[in-house]
Amino acid sequence: MTSLPNLSSEYAEVFPELVKAAAPAPTPEPQLVVLNHELARDLGLDPEWLATDEGIDFLLGHRLPDAATSVAQAYAGHQFGGYAPVLGDGRAILTGELTVDDQLVDIHIKGSGPTPFSRPGSDGYAALGPMLREYLVSEAVHAQAIPTARALAVITTGGTILRETEQPAAVLVRTGPSHIRVGTFQYVRAQNDLELLQRLTGYSLQRHYPAATGENPGLTLLAQVVEHQAKLLSDWMHAGMIHGVMNTDNMTIAGHSIDFGPVAFLDAFDPNAVFSSIDFAGRYAYGNQPVIAEWNLARFAEALLPAIMQPADEQVMSQDEAIREATEAVVTFRHIYSTTWADRFNRRLGIPQAGTAELGTDLLEQLRAADADFTSFFANLADVARTGTIPEETSPELSTWYTQWLQLQPDADQVAALNPVYVPRNHLVEEALTAAVTDHDFSVFHTLLAAVTTPYERHDAFAHLEQPASMAYSLNYQTFCGT
Ligand code: AMP
Ligand code: MG
Repeated sequence: MTSLPNLSSEYAEVFPELVKAAAPAPTPEPQLVVLNHELARDLGLDPEWLATDEGIDFLLGHRLPDAATSVAQAYAGHQFGGYAPVLGDGRAILTGELTVDDQLVDIHIKGSGPTPFSRPGSDGYAALGPMLREYLVSEAVHAQAIPTARALAVITTGGTILRETEQPAAVLVRTGPSHIRVGTFQYVRAQNDLELLQRLTGYSLQRHYPAATGENPGLTLLAQVVEHQAKLLSDWMHAGMIHGVMNTDNMTIAGHSIDFGPVAFLDAFDPNAVFSSIDFAGRYAYGNQPVIAEWNLARFAEALLPAIMQPADEQVMSQDEAIREATEAVVTFRHIYSTTWADRFNRRLGIPQAGTAELGTDLLEQLRAADADFTSFFANLADVARTGTIPEETSPELSTWYTQWLQLQPDADQVAALNPVYVPRNHLVEEALTAAVTDHDFSVFHTLLAAVTTPYERHDAFAHLEQPASMAYSLNYQTFCGT
């Protein structure tokens, strides 16, 4: 490739009020440590070229086509329930958008140095370990067909940063359908600028939900975001994923997953599982996630209210009516979430849809009582369906459950196709990151990446990646934000 990829800066052009120019900090000695060849090709980028000095400069945002302006995006957000009026990209930059199959795809870099939104005391950088974690988790989540930001590359900068100890600094290059968040709408709402709110509403609908119909763009957008986030939450729950920081600035309008800093995965099934070192009250505990998503959507509805009342020049609705309509839209979350979740549960169990709800509820109770490993339990179900043999050392209650389930003649192939064998288990992620960062050995990372990106196919070579951590490890495990 001789010319630079064709990046646009549509968002920055349409919303000058919502961006600040931001250039990436110099990188003394950049080194490409992971590159997603498959994603690069899907984006129409040449992976060989991306690995050249010029390609790395492009990925780092140092060398962009003339048409692109790199920016930091403004947003507000409820963080752990408390409202922060100005957050914005404090350590990330949107370098531009690629057009792929007529869709815009953001190229976004994280850990690129301070921006106009960096708060005092936060340096704008990221450490290698956490950027590798984001890479692994994004790709694992994508492999389970969950909408997510994708990871294109991790590049060490040659610099070091101080966290608890001195760490190599790195940049994650990620992609996504956009980085418009619930927090972006909250930021706009606080500006008291109706025209801007109407414009962002129309833009978001057109960019993410062009097929959606409805007379009131605010209500139409709200309904779409509620639906997509409800389905996303069902996906997270089925994956045993604990996002860890479901602040409104981390919930996207496109309904995909972003920002995996403190993410963790369940070992033993426990609705109260919390791993984030700062989540003292368990606000973002595994079992609380759907409730929090709905709470966040209520904040989205509040931000949208003026646009719902007044979609164009004319006011079409009173505030009371707008609140009533918006509330109705938000509470559909519960129904969409529960039906999506239950439907998926039945499919994971390979059983017909009707009359099996009790079997599902009963199973979760038994898993919890037995401290059963969430991923292994489901990963082993296909064998049980195939052989009809209940695993040894099963509790009497679970044995009863297996018997009832087997009577329904579950479809073993369907069970195998929907229950991942390999997920980024917390202890495996830590091992992979330690080997990469401390020993400069990326083989552990690549083996884990290979397993979690082909999550449904059992391989002998990956047998060790099926083992859960010890209960003691799991109970003491912690994850961190802003790393
Ligand atoms: P998060 O909860 O990780 O999504 O981050 C919340 C906010 O903190 C965002 O506005 C980030 O840009 C900002 N932030 C996190 N870590 C840093 C850092 N090292 N330097 C500057 N800003 C940061
Ligand atoms: Mg964030």
